[in-house]
Amino acid sequence: MKQVKIKNSNETYIIGKIICVGRNYREHAEELGNVVPEFPLIFLKPTSALIYSGDKIVHPTFSENLNYEAELVLLIGEDLKNVDLTTAENGIAGYGVGLDMTLRDIQSEEIRKGHPWTVSKGFDTSAVISEINLKKDHPLNFDEKITLKLNGVIKQNCELNKMIFKPADIVRYISSVLVLEKGDLIFTGTPSGVGRVVKGDKLEAEITHIAKVEAEVI
Ligand code: MG
Repeated sequence: MKQVKIKNSNETYIIGKIICVGRNYREHAEELGNVVPEFPLIFLKPTSALIYSGDKIVHPTFSENLNYEAELVLLIGEDLKNVDLTTAENGIAGYGVGLDMTLRDIQSEEIRKGHPWTVSKGFDTSAVISEINLKKDHPLNFDEKITLKLNGVIKQNCELNKMIFKPADIVRYISSVLVLEKGDLIFTGTPSGVGRVVKGDKLEAEITHIAKVEAEVI
């Protein structure tokens, strides 16, 4: 069992499932030639794929195009099923920043063949998370910026208010499909500027005043 690392708190959250939202920033959907969805596009990563800031991302041998995607991550604080927006908002316990590592060449094949994204999104070390800041300590204003640096060079830089579906919308929608439980993590989608990494690259993602995550590709 893996636990979330909480900043300045001894509270314990055992990580349940990891749900990710795709195409949640208009410019990113467009940069990959995708239409903007009418409702959140969701997929799962296995919890075994999760690593923490400072750990290494292992480049799979079966892909030639490993991509970074920096994302706001939500920590769910209570069980939620078919909730309204207010309950959804109250059910978010905290925020962090994560990397949704993606095998773009394999994902393109999966999309072309109508296959699920399990390989391109669920491989080992494909989810990296920072420490989580509890919402009661650091609520989001949405003027925070999410940035990603590749070997020290800024590649992604966007305000969180550019998200198409906001955290409460996402939580409400997911809870209408499947139950959310305490300890679940939600990756909320990436802004434009995604790109390829190779072995030896160093990634650093940050959300202002919230959290920072670092990982090296090996
Ligand atoms: Mg993503």
